[in-house]
Amino acid sequence: MKITRIYEDAMKSCVICNSCRYCEGLCAVFPAMEKKRVFNLQDMDYLANLCHNCSECFYDCQYAPPHEFNVSIPAQFAALRQQSYKKYAFPNFLSFIFEKNAFISALLLVVLFFAGFYLAFAGKNSQSGDFFDIMPYTYMTSLFSIVGILVLIALIVGIVKYAKAIELKNVSFSAFIQTLKDALSLKYLGGHKNEGCTYPNETRSNVRKIFHHLTAYGFIFCFIATSLGAFYHHFLHIYAPYDLTQFPKLFGFIGGIFLCIGTLGLLILKLKADKKLIDKESVGMDYVFILMLFIVSFTGLLLMFFRESEYLAALLWLHLSCILTFFILLPYSKFVHMFYRFTALLKYNTEEEQH
Ligand code: SF4
Ligand code: SF4
Repeated sequence: MKITRIYEDAMKSCVICNSCRYCEGLCAVFPAMEKKRVFNLQDMDYLANLCHNCSECFYDCQYAPPHEFNVSIPAQFAALRQQSYKKYAFPNFLSFIFEKNAFISALLLVVLFFAGFYLAFAGKNSQSGDFFDIMPYTYMTSLFSIVGILVLIALIVGIVKYAKAIELKNVSFSAFIQTLKDALSLKYLGGHKNEGCTYPNETRSNVRKIFHHLTAYGFIFCFIATSLGAFYHHFLHIYAPYDLTQFPKLFGFIGGIFLCIGTLGLLILKLKADKKLIDKESVGMDYVFILMLFIVSFTGLLLMFFRESEYLAALLWLHLSCILTFFILLPYSKFVHMFYRFTALLKYNTEEEQH
């Protein structure tokens, strides 16, 4: 019933927007909307993930609340995006559990993993800063490989379900490259005149784009650092711990700093965001996701600085517990927006090319 109401309100707003067309130059959402006369649920899932919640159309709109038409695209689409994450998640029931108790679930998982590591490896530590003195290499890699593969399967199934639902087809190579460019440059976060977007309030600023960039590239750098670590270990036979002049540590250090600044910035912006434009149902999971990403990067940096201290074992268990929790939450959190948005942009660029 609640889902129907959310979709109905957003569909009504889209019909009004299609008659008005005042916002058609603002972002990709309005040109995509104008290709339709009537909207079904899948169209709404497509449009909602094309929106990045900049709020510009809300501040420009003569029909926004308190007007009786109640056109509030950013808040209505934020609610729809949250519904789409649940609808296409695999397995579906986990998204409902995590959504209702996002903070408690995350905390419980961290505590359980930490307790498990403590029971298995109590008394172990390392003078030289070698993690594998505390937790054997095969144990650590097996645990993370199993969790990583399960998470990857859940993510892929969710993305494929979403792509099929919004009818993504006949994608050309040029549309794919254009989408990659748009996504990597966060094109639409710059506002329609590249003066920045109206988030967290009516004043234009590029600050959100900067924090998004830092978070995204910090994540990519940390991923590269982990992959390089595995490459050094297996193929070059150069073993951890690495120092700052070696690529695995250098990428990890820069990535960790980027992630800490980016996530902290996004968290502050979210706290300052215009309350009229927030979807209260989804905001809890958003906070937990950003907070977990911050804690993962922060504990990673702590590990670098306290590598030769007596707290190394406890810090390592905490860091690994946070990473495992973060991994498990990924397919049911805002993280999927990155892929759904890419998929929606791919459909948009494909349709633009065909028209
Ligand atoms: S958001 Fe408001 S101003 Fe913009 S197109 Fe829709 S109805 Fe028109
Ligand atoms: S909130 Fe921003 S991105 Fe979303 S539809 Fe409005 S102008 Fe476009």
